[in-house]
Amino acid sequence: MADIPEHFPPTRAAALTRLEAFAPKTAGQYAKGRNVDFGAGRHEAVSTLSPYIRARLLTEPEVARAALDHHRAADADKFLSEVFWRTYWKGWMELRPAVWQMYRADLNRLADEVQTQSGLRQRWEDACLGRTGIAPFDGWAKELTQTGYLHNHARMWFASIWIFTLKLPWQLGADFFLRHLLDGDAAVNTLSWRWVAGIQTVGKTYLATESNIAKFTDGRFTSVPGLASDAPAIAYPPNPAAGLLPPAAPLPLVARHGVLLHGDDCDPAPLRINDMPPLTFGYLDATQGHSPWQMAPHVAAFRRAAARDRAPDLSVMDSAEGIALWAQKHQLDQIVTPYAPVGPVQDVLQAYRARPDALPLNQRRRDFEEAAWPLATKGFFPFRKHIPDLVNRFVRGQGTFSLAAG
Ligand SMILES: Cc1cc2nc3c(=O)[nH]c(=O)nc-3n(C[C@H](O)[C@H](O)[C@H](O)COP(=O)(O)OP(=O)(O)OC[C@H]3O[C@@H](n4cnc5c(N)ncnc54)[C@H](O)[C@@H]3O)c2cc1C
Repeated sequence: MADIPEHFPPTRAAALTRLEAFAPKTAGQYAKGRNVDFGAGRHEAVSTLSPYIRARLLTEPEVARAALDHHRAADADKFLSEVFWRTYWKGWMELRPAVWQMYRADLNRLADEVQTQSGLRQRWEDACLGRTGIAPFDGWAKELTQTGYLHNHARMWFASIWIFTLKLPWQLGADFFLRHLLDGDAAVNTLSWRWVAGIQTVGKTYLATESNIAKFTDGRFTSVPGLASDAPAIAYPPNPAAGLLPPAAPLPLVARHGVLLHGDDCDPAPLRINDMPPLTFGYLDATQGHSPWQMAPHVAAFRRAAARDRAPDLSVMDSAEGIALWAQKHQLDQIVTPYAPVGPVQDVLQAYRARPDALPLNQRRRDFEEAAWPLATKGFFPFRKHIPDLVNRFVRGQGTFSLAAG
Protein backbone atom coordinates (compact mmCIF):
# COMPACT_ATOMS: atom_id res chain seq x y z
CA MET A 1 0.00 0.00 0.00
CA ALA A 2 3.02 2.28 0.49
CA ASP A 3 3.10 3.08 -3.22
CA ILE A 4 -0.55 4.09 -3.54
CA PRO A 5 -1.34 7.81 -3.22
CA GLU A 6 -3.22 8.47 -0.01
CA HIS A 7 -6.26 9.99 -1.69
CA PHE A 8 -7.09 6.72 -3.48
CA PRO A 9 -7.62 3.80 -1.08
CA PRO A 10 -7.93 0.80 -3.43
CA THR A 11 -11.14 -0.70 -2.09
CA ARG A 12 -14.72 -0.88 -3.28
CA ALA A 13 -15.83 0.40 0.12
CA ALA A 14 -13.75 3.57 -0.41
CA ALA A 15 -15.12 3.89 -3.95
CA LEU A 16 -18.72 3.59 -2.73
CA THR A 17 -18.13 6.11 0.07
CA ARG A 18 -16.72 8.60 -2.42
CA LEU A 19 -19.58 7.99 -4.86
CA GLU A 20 -22.17 8.46 -2.12
CA ALA A 21 -20.54 11.70 -0.97
CA PHE A 22 -20.29 13.11 -4.51
CA ALA A 23 -23.70 11.99 -5.85
CA PRO A 24 -25.61 15.00 -4.39
CA LYS A 25 -23.19 17.34 -6.21
CA THR A 26 -23.67 15.85 -9.69
CA ALA A 27 -26.18 18.44 -10.94
CA GLY A 28 -25.73 22.25 -10.94
CA GLN A 29 -22.71 22.23 -8.64
CA TYR A 30 -20.80 19.91 -10.98
CA ALA A 31 -21.84 21.74 -14.15
CA LYS A 32 -20.70 25.04 -12.63
CA GLY A 33 -17.44 23.91 -11.05
CA ARG A 34 -16.14 21.03 -13.14
CA ASN A 35 -13.95 23.15 -15.40
CA VAL A 36 -12.02 24.78 -12.57
CA ASP A 37 -8.73 23.16 -11.60
CA PHE A 38 -8.30 24.20 -7.96
CA GLY A 39 -4.99 22.29 -7.70
CA ALA A 40 -3.64 19.20 -5.98
CA GLY A 41 -5.60 18.17 -2.92
CA ARG A 42 -8.47 20.53 -3.84
CA HIS A 43 -10.38 18.61 -6.52
CA GLU A 44 -13.73 18.73 -4.71
CA ALA A 45 -15.65 20.07 -7.74
CA VAL A 46 -15.13 16.77 -9.58
CA SER A 47 -15.66 13.24 -8.34
CA THR A 48 -12.09 11.79 -8.57
CA LEU A 49 -13.81 8.45 -9.17
CA SER A 50 -11.89 7.64 -12.36
CA PRO A 51 -9.31 5.20 -10.87
CA TYR A 52 -12.18 3.18 -9.39
CA ILE A 53 -14.16 3.18 -12.63
CA ARG A 54 -11.00 2.25 -14.54
CA ALA A 55 -10.40 -0.85 -12.39
CA ARG A 56 -14.13 -1.72 -12.35
CA LEU A 57 -14.49 -1.21 -8.63
CA LEU A 58 -17.37 0.91 -9.90
CA THR A 59 -19.17 0.75 -13.24
CA GLU A 60 -20.62 3.57 -15.31
CA PRO A 61 -24.22 2.39 -14.64
CA GLU A 62 -23.57 2.38 -10.89
CA VAL A 63 -22.14 5.89 -11.01
CA ALA A 64 -25.04 7.13 -13.13
CA ARG A 65 -27.53 5.42 -10.81
CA ALA A 66 -26.09 7.24 -7.80
CA ALA A 67 -26.48 10.59 -9.60
CA LEU A 68 -30.07 9.76 -10.56
CA ASP A 69 -30.91 8.83 -6.98
CA HIS A 70 -30.45 12.52 -6.19
CA HIS A 71 -31.34 14.37 -9.40
CA ARG A 72 -33.49 14.29 -12.50
CA ALA A 73 -31.58 13.18 -15.60
CA ALA A 74 -31.94 16.65 -17.15
CA ASP A 75 -30.33 18.26 -14.09
CA ALA A 76 -27.39 15.81 -13.92
CA ASP A 77 -26.98 15.91 -17.70
CA LYS A 78 -23.41 17.26 -17.71
CA PHE A 79 -22.17 14.65 -15.24
CA LEU A 80 -23.96 11.80 -17.02
CA SER A 81 -22.49 12.96 -20.35
CA GLU A 82 -18.97 12.81 -18.95
CA VAL A 83 -19.54 9.35 -17.53
CA PHE A 84 -20.79 8.20 -20.93
CA TRP A 85 -17.83 9.83 -22.71
CA ARG A 86 -15.78 7.10 -21.12
CA THR A 87 -18.14 4.41 -22.41
CA TYR A 88 -18.00 6.00 -25.84
CA TRP A 89 -14.18 6.09 -25.99
CA LYS A 90 -14.02 2.46 -24.82
CA GLY A 91 -16.46 1.42 -27.52
CA TRP A 92 -14.74 3.51 -30.21
CA MET A 93 -11.40 1.80 -29.56
CA GLU A 94 -13.01 -1.62 -29.27
CA LEU A 95 -14.37 -1.26 -32.79
CA ARG A 96 -10.98 -0.07 -34.10
CA PRO A 97 -8.24 -2.05 -32.30
CA ALA A 98 -5.69 -1.05 -34.97
CA VAL A 99 -5.53 2.41 -33.39
CA TRP A 100 -3.95 0.98 -30.22
CA GLN A 101 -1.53 -1.14 -32.27
CA MET A 102 -0.51 1.94 -34.31
CA TYR A 103 0.08 3.91 -31.13
CA ARG A 104 2.23 1.12 -29.66
CA ALA A 105 4.26 0.88 -32.88
CA ASP A 106 4.76 4.67 -32.86
CA LEU A 107 5.97 4.49 -29.26
CA ASN A 108 8.53 1.80 -30.01
CA ARG A 109 9.90 3.95 -32.83
CA LEU A 110 9.93 7.03 -30.58
CA ALA A 111 11.68 5.11 -27.79
CA ASP A 112 14.53 4.53 -30.25
CA GLU A 113 14.51 8.19 -31.26
CA VAL A 114 14.64 9.30 -27.62
CA GLN A 115 17.68 7.04 -27.18
CA THR A 116 19.50 8.29 -30.26
CA GLN A 117 18.52 11.98 -30.46
CA SER A 118 19.91 13.87 -27.50
CA GLY A 119 17.94 17.05 -28.27
CA LEU A 120 14.64 15.20 -28.25
CA ARG A 121 15.64 13.28 -25.10
CA GLN A 122 16.45 16.50 -23.27
CA ARG A 123 13.16 18.19 -24.20
CA TRP A 124 11.19 15.04 -23.32
CA GLU A 125 12.94 14.70 -19.94
CA ASP A 126 12.40 18.39 -19.14
CA ALA A 127 8.68 18.04 -19.89
CA CYS A 128 8.28 14.83 -17.83
CA LEU A 129 10.24 16.25 -14.88
CA GLY A 130 8.42 19.60 -14.94
CA ARG A 131 11.48 21.65 -15.94
CA THR A 132 10.17 23.59 -18.94
CA GLY A 133 9.86 26.97 -17.21
CA ILE A 134 6.10 27.08 -18.03
CA ALA A 135 4.83 27.28 -14.45
CA PRO A 136 1.42 25.58 -14.70
CA PHE A 137 2.75 22.89 -17.01
CA ASP A 138 5.61 22.10 -14.64
CA GLY A 139 3.19 22.05 -11.72
CA TRP A 140 0.87 19.58 -13.51
CA ALA A 141 3.81 17.29 -14.42
CA LYS A 142 4.74 17.14 -10.74
CA GLU A 143 1.15 16.75 -9.55
CA LEU A 144 0.66 13.85 -11.95
CA THR A 145 3.79 11.97 -10.92
CA GLN A 146 3.19 12.57 -7.21
CA THR A 147 -0.56 11.94 -6.98
CA GLY A 148 -1.47 9.74 -9.99
CA TYR A 149 -4.30 12.14 -10.89
CA LEU A 150 -4.87 15.31 -12.91
CA HIS A 151 -8.01 17.39 -13.37
CA ASN A 152 -9.62 17.06 -16.83
CA HIS A 153 -8.96 20.68 -17.79
CA ALA A 154 -5.32 20.34 -16.70
CA ARG A 155 -5.03 17.24 -18.90
CA MET A 156 -6.33 19.24 -21.86
CA TRP A 157 -4.00 22.20 -21.26
CA PHE A 158 -1.06 19.92 -20.56
CA ALA A 159 -1.57 17.89 -23.74
CA SER A 160 -2.01 21.04 -25.81
CA ILE A 161 1.16 22.67 -24.46
CA TRP A 162 3.08 19.40 -24.92
CA ILE A 163 2.06 19.17 -28.57
CA PHE A 164 1.79 22.77 -29.80
CA THR A 165 4.14 24.80 -27.57
CA LEU A 166 6.83 22.25 -26.75
CA LYS A 167 6.37 20.51 -30.12
CA LEU A 168 6.89 17.07 -28.66
CA PRO A 169 5.26 14.00 -30.27
CA TRP A 170 1.75 13.47 -28.84
CA GLN A 171 2.48 9.75 -28.37
CA LEU A 172 5.25 10.53 -25.85
CA GLY A 173 2.82 12.69 -23.89
CA ALA A 174 0.14 9.98 -23.93
CA ASP A 175 2.80 7.57 -22.69
CA PHE A 176 3.81 9.93 -19.86
CA PHE A 177 0.16 10.03 -18.75
CA LEU A 178 -0.27 6.24 -18.99
CA ARG A 179 2.84 5.65 -16.90
CA HIS A 180 1.52 7.76 -14.03
CA LEU A 181 -2.28 8.09 -14.11
CA LEU A 182 -4.13 5.76 -11.75
CA ASP A 183 -6.98 5.88 -14.26
CA GLY A 184 -4.62 5.58 -17.26
CA ASP A 185 -6.55 3.73 -19.92
CA ALA A 186 -5.51 2.49 -23.37
CA ALA A 187 -8.67 3.80 -25.02
CA VAL A 188 -9.58 6.95 -23.08
CA ASN A 189 -6.04 8.26 -22.85
CA THR A 190 -4.92 7.51 -26.42
CA LEU A 191 -8.11 8.90 -27.94
CA SER A 192 -8.10 12.02 -25.75
CA TRP A 193 -4.54 12.83 -26.82
CA ARG A 194 -5.49 12.21 -30.44
CA TRP A 195 -8.44 14.57 -29.93
CA VAL A 196 -6.19 17.39 -28.64
CA ALA A 197 -3.79 16.78 -31.56
CA GLY A 198 -6.58 17.07 -34.16
CA ILE A 199 -6.42 13.44 -35.24
CA GLN A 200 -9.57 12.10 -33.61
CA THR A 201 -12.01 14.73 -34.86
CA VAL A 202 -10.19 15.46 -38.06
CA GLY A 203 -8.76 18.97 -38.12
CA LYS A 204 -10.26 19.97 -34.73
CA THR A 205 -7.48 20.68 -32.23
CA TYR A 206 -7.44 22.08 -28.70
CA LEU A 207 -5.39 25.20 -28.04
CA ALA A 208 -4.44 26.06 -24.43
CA THR A 209 -4.50 29.84 -23.98
CA GLU A 210 -3.16 32.09 -21.25
CA SER A 211 -6.60 33.63 -20.63
CA ASN A 212 -8.37 30.28 -20.36
CA ILE A 213 -5.75 28.93 -17.92
CA ALA A 214 -5.95 32.12 -15.86
CA LYS A 215 -9.76 31.96 -15.77
CA PHE A 216 -10.03 28.32 -14.71
CA THR A 217 -7.16 27.86 -12.24
CA ASP A 218 -8.67 29.78 -9.32
CA GLY A 219 -6.19 32.66 -9.61
CA ARG A 220 -3.13 30.41 -9.39
CA PHE A 221 -1.69 31.14 -12.86
CA THR A 222 -2.60 34.62 -14.01
CA SER A 223 0.32 34.99 -16.40
CA VAL A 224 1.56 32.19 -18.66
CA PRO A 225 3.74 33.77 -21.33
CA GLY A 226 5.13 31.94 -24.33
CA LEU A 227 2.28 29.59 -25.20
CA ALA A 228 1.70 28.64 -28.86
CA SER A 229 -0.80 30.94 -30.54
CA ASP A 230 -2.12 28.36 -32.97
CA ALA A 231 -2.67 24.63 -33.02
CA PRO A 232 -2.36 23.15 -36.50
CA ALA A 233 -3.65 19.57 -36.66
CA ILE A 234 -0.95 16.88 -36.50
CA ALA A 235 -0.67 14.83 -39.70
CA TYR A 236 -1.61 11.20 -39.09
CA PRO A 237 -3.20 8.29 -41.03
CA PRO A 238 -7.01 8.58 -41.20
CA ASN A 239 -9.25 6.86 -38.65
CA PRO A 240 -9.98 3.25 -39.58
CA ALA A 241 -13.62 2.31 -40.25
CA ALA A 242 -15.51 0.81 -37.33
CA GLY A 243 -15.46 -2.99 -37.21
CA LEU A 244 -17.65 -5.27 -35.11
CA LEU A 245 -17.40 -6.20 -31.47
CA PRO A 246 -16.31 -9.87 -31.12
CA PRO A 247 -19.62 -11.82 -31.03
CA ALA A 248 -20.82 -13.31 -27.75
CA ALA A 249 -20.12 -17.08 -27.66
CA PRO A 250 -21.09 -18.61 -24.33
CA LEU A 251 -18.80 -21.19 -22.76
CA PRO A 252 -20.43 -23.27 -20.03
CA LEU A 253 -18.53 -23.23 -16.74
CA VAL A 254 -16.62 -26.40 -15.92
CA ALA A 255 -15.81 -27.61 -12.41
CA ARG A 256 -12.02 -27.25 -12.62
CA HIS A 257 -11.84 -23.57 -13.43
CA GLY A 258 -9.85 -20.64 -12.12
CA VAL A 259 -10.87 -16.98 -12.18
CA LEU A 260 -8.35 -14.59 -13.66
CA LEU A 261 -8.88 -10.95 -12.71
CA HIS A 262 -6.90 -8.08 -14.24
CA GLY A 263 -6.51 -4.31 -14.13
CA ASP A 264 -9.37 -3.73 -16.60
CA ASP A 265 -11.82 -5.54 -14.35
CA CYS A 266 -10.99 -6.47 -10.79
CA ASP A 267 -14.44 -7.62 -9.78
CA PRO A 268 -15.35 -11.33 -9.84
CA ALA A 269 -18.78 -10.72 -8.26
CA PRO A 270 -20.79 -10.46 -11.51
CA LEU A 271 -19.10 -13.43 -13.20
CA ARG A 272 -21.90 -15.77 -12.07
CA ILE A 273 -19.53 -18.28 -10.51
CA ASN A 274 -21.48 -18.54 -7.26
CA ASP A 275 -23.03 -21.94 -8.03
CA MET A 276 -19.67 -23.41 -9.03
CA PRO A 277 -16.88 -21.75 -7.06
CA PRO A 278 -13.47 -21.52 -8.75
CA LEU A 279 -10.54 -23.66 -7.59
CA THR A 280 -8.33 -20.60 -7.49
CA PHE A 281 -8.11 -16.88 -8.20
CA GLY A 282 -5.35 -15.21 -10.21
CA TYR A 283 -4.49 -11.65 -11.15
CA LEU A 284 -2.85 -10.70 -14.42
CA ASP A 285 -0.68 -7.62 -14.01
CA ALA A 286 -0.19 -6.34 -17.55
CA THR A 287 0.81 -2.82 -16.50
CA GLN A 288 4.21 -3.02 -18.11
CA GLY A 289 2.56 -3.51 -21.53
CA HIS A 290 1.46 0.12 -21.41
CA SER A 291 4.88 1.59 -22.11
CA PRO A 292 8.42 0.91 -23.31
CA TRP A 293 9.56 2.71 -20.12
CA GLN A 294 9.18 1.81 -16.47
CA MET A 295 5.66 2.35 -15.12
CA ALA A 296 5.14 4.35 -11.92
CA PRO A 297 4.80 1.72 -9.16
CA HIS A 298 1.51 3.20 -7.90
CA VAL A 299 -0.34 2.19 -11.09
CA ALA A 300 0.27 -1.56 -10.73
CA ALA A 301 -0.01 -1.36 -6.94
CA PHE A 302 -3.45 0.32 -7.07
CA ARG A 303 -4.94 -2.19 -9.52
CA ARG A 304 -3.45 -5.23 -7.80
CA ALA A 305 -4.72 -4.03 -4.42
CA ALA A 306 -8.15 -3.39 -5.96
CA ALA A 307 -8.25 -7.02 -7.15
CA ARG A 308 -7.12 -8.24 -3.70
CA ASP A 309 -9.94 -6.24 -2.18
CA ARG A 310 -12.39 -8.31 -4.24
CA ALA A 311 -10.56 -11.68 -4.02
CA PRO A 312 -8.05 -11.62 -1.14
CA ASP A 313 -6.31 -14.90 -1.91
CA LEU A 314 -4.95 -14.59 -5.44
CA SER A 315 -1.75 -15.43 -7.30
CA VAL A 316 -0.21 -12.61 -9.33
CA MET A 317 1.27 -13.20 -12.79
CA ASP A 318 2.48 -10.84 -15.48
CA SER A 319 2.81 -12.86 -18.70
CA ALA A 320 1.24 -15.53 -20.90
CA GLU A 321 3.75 -18.00 -19.50
CA GLY A 322 2.77 -17.03 -15.96
CA ILE A 323 -0.89 -17.79 -16.78
CA ALA A 324 0.11 -21.20 -18.18
CA LEU A 325 2.10 -22.06 -15.05
CA TRP A 326 -0.75 -20.99 -12.79
CA ALA A 327 -3.24 -23.08 -14.77
CA GLN A 328 -0.93 -26.14 -14.64
CA LYS A 329 -0.28 -25.78 -10.94
CA HIS A 330 -4.00 -25.89 -10.17
CA GLN A 331 -4.76 -28.47 -12.89
CA LEU A 332 -7.40 -26.24 -14.41
CA ASP A 333 -9.56 -27.13 -17.40
CA GLN A 334 -10.82 -23.59 -18.04
CA ILE A 335 -9.99 -19.98 -17.20
CA VAL A 336 -12.86 -17.59 -16.50
CA THR A 337 -11.96 -13.95 -16.91
CA PRO A 338 -13.79 -10.63 -17.25
CA TYR A 339 -13.59 -9.41 -20.85
CA ALA A 340 -10.39 -7.44 -21.47
CA PRO A 341 -10.92 -4.54 -23.87
CA VAL A 342 -8.26 -3.35 -26.32
CA GLY A 343 -5.04 -2.73 -24.40
CA PRO A 344 -2.18 -4.47 -22.59
CA VAL A 345 -4.30 -7.09 -20.80
CA GLN A 346 -5.88 -8.17 -24.06
CA ASP A 347 -2.41 -8.30 -25.63
CA VAL A 348 -1.20 -10.77 -22.96
CA LEU A 349 -4.39 -12.86 -23.21
CA GLN A 350 -3.90 -13.09 -26.98
CA ALA A 351 -0.33 -14.26 -26.43
CA TYR A 352 -1.66 -16.87 -23.98
CA ARG A 353 -4.26 -18.06 -26.48
CA ALA A 354 -1.53 -18.60 -29.07
CA ARG A 355 0.30 -21.09 -26.80
CA PRO A 356 -0.08 -24.79 -27.61
CA ASP A 357 -0.97 -25.51 -23.96
CA ALA A 358 -3.61 -22.75 -23.73
CA LEU A 359 -6.86 -23.66 -21.95
CA PRO A 360 -10.25 -22.40 -23.12
CA LEU A 361 -10.66 -18.75 -22.04
CA ASN A 362 -14.19 -18.12 -20.88
CA GLN A 363 -14.26 -14.32 -21.28
CA ARG A 364 -17.35 -12.64 -19.92
CA ARG A 365 -18.41 -9.21 -21.01
CA ARG A 366 -20.88 -7.11 -19.10
CA ASP A 367 -24.30 -6.65 -20.71
CA PHE A 368 -23.90 -2.88 -20.53
CA GLU A 369 -20.69 -2.97 -22.57
CA GLU A 370 -22.20 -5.48 -24.98
CA ALA A 371 -25.01 -3.03 -25.65
CA ALA A 372 -23.15 0.30 -25.48
CA TRP A 373 -19.82 -0.30 -27.21
CA PRO A 374 -21.21 -1.21 -30.66
CA LEU A 375 -22.98 2.18 -30.69
CA ALA A 376 -19.64 4.04 -30.92
CA THR A 377 -19.52 3.85 -34.70
CA LYS A 378 -19.36 7.61 -35.33
CA GLY A 379 -18.87 10.74 -33.19
CA PHE A 380 -20.01 11.29 -29.59
CA PHE A 381 -23.09 13.26 -30.58
CA PRO A 382 -24.76 10.41 -32.49
CA PHE A 383 -23.73 8.13 -29.57
CA ARG A 384 -25.28 10.56 -27.08
CA LYS A 385 -28.75 9.97 -28.56
CA HIS A 386 -28.60 6.43 -27.19
CA ILE A 387 -27.88 7.52 -23.61
CA PRO A 388 -31.55 7.73 -22.49
CA ASP A 389 -32.14 4.19 -23.70
CA LEU A 390 -28.93 2.92 -22.05
CA VAL A 391 -29.97 4.66 -18.83
CA ASN A 392 -33.42 3.05 -18.93
CA ARG A 393 -32.00 -0.41 -19.55
CA PHE A 394 -28.87 -0.48 -17.41
CA VAL A 395 -29.06 2.32 -14.89
CA ARG A 396 -32.65 1.90 -13.84
CA GLY A 397 -32.36 -1.90 -14.32
CA GLN A 398 -29.56 -4.18 -13.08
CA GLY A 399 -26.47 -4.78 -15.26
CA THR A 400 -25.05 -8.31 -15.43
CA PHE A 401 -22.42 -10.21 -17.38
CA SER A 402 -22.99 -12.11 -20.57
CA LEU A 403 -20.59 -14.41 -22.33
CA ALA A 404 -18.29 -13.22 -25.10
CA ALA A 405 -15.98 -15.03 -27.51
CA GLY A 406 -13.23 -16.98 -25.73
C1 LIG B 1 -5.31 14.21 -22.63
C2 LIG B 1 -6.33 13.50 -21.78
C3 LIG B 1 -6.05 12.22 -21.30
C4 LIG B 1 -7.00 11.55 -20.53
N1 LIG B 1 -6.71 10.26 -20.09
C5 LIG B 1 -7.65 9.58 -19.39
C6 LIG B 1 -7.40 8.26 -18.95
O1 LIG B 1 -6.36 7.66 -19.23
N2 LIG B 1 -8.36 7.63 -18.23
C7 LIG B 1 -9.55 8.23 -17.91
O2 LIG B 1 -10.39 7.62 -17.22
N3 LIG B 1 -9.82 9.47 -18.32
C8 LIG B 1 -8.91 10.17 -19.04
N4 LIG B 1 -9.19 11.45 -19.47
C9 LIG B 1 -10.54 11.97 -19.26
C10 LIG B 1 -10.77 12.80 -17.99
O3 LIG B 1 -9.78 13.78 -17.88
C11 LIG B 1 -10.80 11.95 -16.71
O4 LIG B 1 -11.68 10.86 -16.87
C12 LIG B 1 -11.29 12.78 -15.53
O5 LIG B 1 -10.48 13.92 -15.36
C13 LIG B 1 -11.30 11.94 -14.28
O6 LIG B 1 -11.54 12.72 -13.16
P1 LIG B 1 -12.86 12.57 -12.32
O7 LIG B 1 -13.12 11.15 -11.99
O8 LIG B 1 -12.76 13.52 -11.19
O9 LIG B 1 -13.96 13.05 -13.37
P2 LIG B 1 -15.44 13.60 -13.22
O10 LIG B 1 -15.47 14.92 -13.87
O11 LIG B 1 -15.93 13.52 -11.83
O12 LIG B 1 -16.27 12.63 -14.16
C14 LIG B 1 -16.87 11.39 -13.70
C15 LIG B 1 -16.36 10.26 -14.57
O13 LIG B 1 -16.69 10.47 -15.95
C16 LIG B 1 -15.64 10.02 -16.80
N5 LIG B 1 -15.07 11.18 -17.53
C17 LIG B 1 -15.02 12.46 -17.11
N6 LIG B 1 -14.48 13.27 -18.05
C18 LIG B 1 -14.19 12.46 -19.08
C19 LIG B 1 -13.61 12.68 -20.37
N7 LIG B 1 -13.27 13.89 -20.78
N8 LIG B 1 -13.43 11.61 -21.19
C20 LIG B 1 -13.79 10.36 -20.80
N9 LIG B 1 -14.36 10.09 -19.60
C21 LIG B 1 -14.56 11.12 -18.75
C22 LIG B 1 -14.56 9.40 -15.89
O14 LIG B 1 -14.77 8.00 -15.80
C23 LIG B 1 -14.84 10.11 -14.56
O15 LIG B 1 -14.40 9.38 -13.44
C24 LIG B 1 -8.25 12.15 -20.24
C25 LIG B 1 -8.50 13.45 -20.72
C26 LIG B 1 -7.56 14.11 -21.47
C27 LIG B 1 -7.87 15.49 -21.98
